[in-house]
Amino acid sequence: MPEKMIEVIDLHKSFGNQEILKGIDLNVRKGEKVVIIGPSGSGKSTLLRCLNYLEVPTSGAIKIEGKSFLDEQGKYHEKRVAELRTEIGMVFQSFNLFPMMTAIENVMAAQIKIRKKTKEDARKTAELYLDKVGLADRMNHYPSQLSGGQQQRVAIARALAMRPKMMLFDEATSALDPELVGDVLQVIRQLADEGMTMVLVTHEMRFAEEVGDRIIFMDRGVIVEEGSPEDIFVHPQHNRTKTFIQRVL
Ligand code: ADP
Ligand code: MG
Repeated sequence: MPEKMIEVIDLHKSFGNQEILKGIDLNVRKGEKVVIIGPSGSGKSTLLRCLNYLEVPTSGAIKIEGKSFLDEQGKYHEKRVAELRTEIGMVFQSFNLFPMMTAIENVMAAQIKIRKKTKEDARKTAELYLDKVGLADRMNHYPSQLSGGQQQRVAIARALAMRPKMMLFDEATSALDPELVGDVLQVIRQLADEGMTMVLVTHEMRFAEEVGDRIIFMDRGVIVEEGSPEDIFVHPQHNRTKTFIQRVL
């Protein structure tokens, strides 16, 4: 049995008196690619943000390689959160690059600050990953001088340069012009082929079908149905899944 990278047990999350996640159970094994689909507002981003404690769950447990974000008393533990977070790379719809830094400086920054690397060391790693995402010739450009697709690839290189054990992608291509989506998907596809453990939220259904080992359909804060791409896209069982799939395919 491959080891569990992510374990989510009965996760609930409320904002005010609104319960957004209503008891999510989820395991992700090492090397597995899990794709989360579902209507807007169903809680996909909130779930992803809970996985690295950008949102603190209201109740339930999240474990990364068996380790909890909480201390023995079940209290939020800043140092554990910071440590576990370094294992998890995250890429958002908005690229969130530092506008006053070049591409390579963006990829170097967290390595120096959080991984405590020397400048030369961080630069070497940054070059490696910018090359990997196809931006060897754009390293000294500022974000404003790059297309959306290039900026997103810088954001991916920045996450990878921290050498995370898993990657979370939240609609990484949703903000891009259609002709720029392919390059970003290609980078994610390559990572998938290399065996990176991933949880992806995407509206690109063909891509979900292609890279997903498992598809999870979420609606209104619960996992309605999960299965292989064929189970979900070809033979969905629940009416809500059928309706959604018909609408998006
Ligand atoms: P999805 O990613 O599936 O579109 P989200 O997780 O972003 O859904 O949002 C689910 C619901 O939670 C939405 O109704 C949204 O308005 C609400 N929500 C998300 N974040 C917050 C927040 N920080 N404060 C209050 N409500 C929030
Ligand atoms: Mg979202």
